[in-house]
Amino acid sequence: MNKDSPPEHQARARKDLRAAARQSGATDPDAIEQVLGRGGLISQRLGGDYEVRAAQLAMARQVLRCLEGGDRLVVEAGTGTGKTLAYLVPAVLSGQKVVISTGTKTLQEQIFNKDIPLLLDALDLELPVACMKGISNYLCLRRLAEARRASRGLQGLLVPDPLLVRIEQWAAETQSGDRAELTDLPDDSPLWFEVSPTPETRLGRACPYFDDCFVTAMRREAAAAKIVVVNHHLLLADLSLRTAYPEASVIPAYEALILDEAHQVEAIATTFFGRSASSERINTVARDARRAAQLEDDDRAVTMADHLQEGAAELFHLLYQHLPELTDSAPPRGAAEPGRLRLIDEPLGGALQQSYFMLDAALEALAARLDRRARGREEWVNLATRVEALRDGLSLFAEPPSPGYIFWAEQRRRSMVLHASPVEVGPILRQTLLEEPVPMVFHLRHPRRGDAPRRSRRTAPRHRGSRRGLSGPAPHAADLLSRPGGPGG
Ligand code: SF4
Repeated sequence: MNKDSPPEHQARARKDLRAAARQSGATDPDAIEQVLGRGGLISQRLGGDYEVRAAQLAMARQVLRCLEGGDRLVVEAGTGTGKTLAYLVPAVLSGQKVVISTGTKTLQEQIFNKDIPLLLDALDLELPVACMKGISNYLCLRRLAEARRASRGLQGLLVPDPLLVRIEQWAAETQSGDRAELTDLPDDSPLWFEVSPTPETRLGRACPYFDDCFVTAMRREAAAAKIVVVNHHLLLADLSLRTAYPEASVIPAYEALILDEAHQVEAIATTFFGRSASSERINTVARDARRAAQLEDDDRAVTMADHLQEGAAELFHLLYQHLPELTDSAPPRGAAEPGRLRLIDEPLGGALQQSYFMLDAALEALAARLDRRARGREEWVNLATRVEALRDGLSLFAEPPSPGYIFWAEQRRRSMVLHASPVEVGPILRQTLLEEPVPMVFHLRHPRRGDAPRRSRRTAPRHRGSRRGLSGPAPHAADLLSRPGGPGG
């Protein structure tokens, strides 16, 4: 088909393509050409702006073969290949429920808001599509209501926090509750921590806002969607949850998986499967505990929450002071990343030990108080669990070295984060990601001129499947999940 084909042929081709997209089964390989080829549907939609690319067509055919053959494909696409459409077109035509995972939220949004609508428009196809991010990206209506109550209580109904007012105005209008819409909200806004959910603060069906909840809506949409766009963080969260609890999941069951920029997975997994502790996180939990205690006039718990915040401030202040002697002299893995410092083992021992013990005691006392006052109420039980989790997380940095972990600190604008990362995530990824019994496509970005040479680290097993380099030599399979730099790289 081309733009000069008779209109009835074009209409017929569109109909066939829509039928292919609605059910799984063998798709006519010519379908790729009909969408992406010369005079195809995308070309008709974009007119003179469209350029047919042989590498894009080749990649799209391979992806379709992989998805329909239940295979694994590693594909390296150079800049200008048009790789997004090269995997989106076969994903849609395969008729399968496909999860597409990206390295960044920006790319996730671009695919969801721009590339998928373009393709569906060209096909004249309505297909349920969803975008899923981690739950902390969404507004929690219950926590917003609590923040509003606490703010009014503290300020005598008078001067509400202007940022809180802004969030409330947006909450009344937004359809998604996704903070990406709040472009004027600073990235590290402490207020957002107070009005967004975490796995520990979610109440699920027990929540009075459950039916209107943005997280609930996002999950419902994803369950009904044919194409679900996620990011590597969420994908790893899902894999790790399902590994621990096979009945549970974050992402709904899917038939095929496509990883865009798969080389970023190792870096993200290194942080994801590690543990971390920060003054910001401790402050958020202390604020939540204080707010709950104030609403119940529990002055003792309020004082304990204050002690916790003071203890965290003291410990992290000392950490800043002693940073030079806590920094490992060995070149850190990920030295190229600014604001990251490799630490010695047991960084909260030695001169910081006394402060650590005091903070640990404050955490223990608050957890016990919350637990005692919970009386079965989920919110208080969750708070006690969060305090215990903080205590558990911090202890790793104060105990004799745990084999298999490296310690490092990340300096952010408002806080410092301590990380303990697994030295080797390859075995974890083998047991989670690579065990998935579905067809998988791994897209790797072709290195640009001037990029550091790739290292060959065997973090992923050589597996059945094929590898293709579309504008250069095919990548080495062992590089599949390796990455340039980063603390675990
Ligand atoms: S269901 Fe969870 S995320 Fe949704 S409003 Fe309630 S507590 Fe917040």
